[in-house]
Amino acid sequence: MSQQTKFLLNEDQMPKAWYNLQADYPTPLPAVLHPGTMQPVGPEDLAPLFPMALIMQEVSTEREIEIPEPVRDLYRLWRPAPLYRAHGLEKALGTCAKIYYKYEGVSPAGSHKPNTAVAQAFYNKEAGVKRLTTETGAGQWGTSLAFAGAHFGLEVEVFQVRVSYDQKPYRRAVMETYGARCVASPSMETEYGRSVLAKRPDHPGSLGIAISEAVEQAVKRDDTKYALGSVLNHVLVHQSIIGLECMKQMEMADTWPDVVVGCTGGGSNFAGIAFPFMGHGLRGGQTSRFVAVEPAACPSLTRGKYAYDFGDTAKMTPLTKMHTLGSQFTPPGFHAGGLRYHGMAPMVSHAMQLGLMEAVAYNQVECFAAGVMFARAEGIVPAPEANHAVKGAIEEALRCKREGKAETILFNLSGHGHFDMASYQKYFAGELTDETYAESELAMALAGLPSVPEPA
Ligand SMILES: *Cc1c(COP(=O)(O)O)cnc(C)c1O
Repeated sequence: MSQQTKFLLNEDQMPKAWYNLQADYPTPLPAVLHPGTMQPVGPEDLAPLFPMALIMQEVSTEREIEIPEPVRDLYRLWRPAPLYRAHGLEKALGTCAKIYYKYEGVSPAGSHKPNTAVAQAFYNKEAGVKRLTTETGAGQWGTSLAFAGAHFGLEVEVFQVRVSYDQKPYRRAVMETYGARCVASPSMETEYGRSVLAKRPDHPGSLGIAISEAVEQAVKRDDTKYALGSVLNHVLVHQSIIGLECMKQMEMADTWPDVVVGCTGGGSNFAGIAFPFMGHGLRGGQTSRFVAVEPAACPSLTRGKYAYDFGDTAKMTPLTKMHTLGSQFTPPGFHAGGLRYHGMAPMVSHAMQLGLMEAVAYNQVECFAAGVMFARAEGIVPAPEANHAVKGAIEEALRCKREGKAETILFNLSGHGHFDMASYQKYFAGELTDETYAESELAMALAGLPSVPEPA
């Protein structure tokens, strides 16, 4: 009998509730602080930006949060997502490890991001919101929110980081096809954007700056709210559907992961695949190792400081405790645009701090090499971000080979790379180099972290 390659769930096996790791942490998440008073923020402080239903999810410590029926209806367009056994990759590596990957590229936007975009658009629509503003890096998040906004009848305005706006014109075309408006950030449309451009007219932009612009627009208008594609607790909760499905699929495959691997930009797809398994272990179930893979050019978990910091560059957001490179840090313009964020999701940082997970950093050229190997062995061309997870999984499989261990490795293939072929072309032309940041710039950004009094 040939070995099974594909593990599919029926629609009625799709989870009916998201999972929230806040219910299972050994110690609770540090409070979110108001930068003026240094006191914990309350739900009302966040109300100008988000609808109350999402704010309540942000602070919830309930283990299960029901997925509303209209969200489940739209999820059915591409979920449950397939889990594959990577027989081809295993063979290419000559490893005795069993490699499985969850494929999130089957969504209309081509990545995991619609899992939260659909939920966020639904709750905003329910709250009577007419217009959403947001930021996007590579364009995956802007595309996802544009898709969800079109479904629920919301206007969507996207501030796209300048370097990605120029590198990836087709992403903008997709956003516009869904009816969204896309502006290169820093832009002349906000006070903050104008102030950045006054200092540096050719600024490549950053997610931190784009967030500031989107937040500024949302605060200005009553009918407008803001949506964030990663980092926040409610986003990570929505992404848990990835791991919840994987748990059922691992059971179908009659195995359980020894190690779970995901790439980390803001931390949402990693949390999505990892947290349901992490919670399972914390509640006394079988345990796994969890490995976050980040770009060496923007290494918040491996090189950042665990400290209170702003989520944006203009210092408009509340302070959260996270692994950060400093909100004033501008990462170099490498091709995995979705991983260019100065901070890490507080929920991922907390898990890291508690020793529940590990992190590694790789350079972009070695990640593209891993992605090309994967494409030739498995047939799917990964997004540059996802190449980091592929690289992490390959390293784990090679370790198993050296140690003669037949471990089970599960990783998240967060999206396909069909809009990123220009970066693959550069890779094949030998023009892709490992971008580095200046150590002095990182030191300066870290020195500029806000000082927060230690809790009594
Ligand atoms: C946005 C994106 C990421 C990074 O975001 P996380 O919040 O860290 O998951 C990773 N992969 C793909 C395909 C993306 O679009």
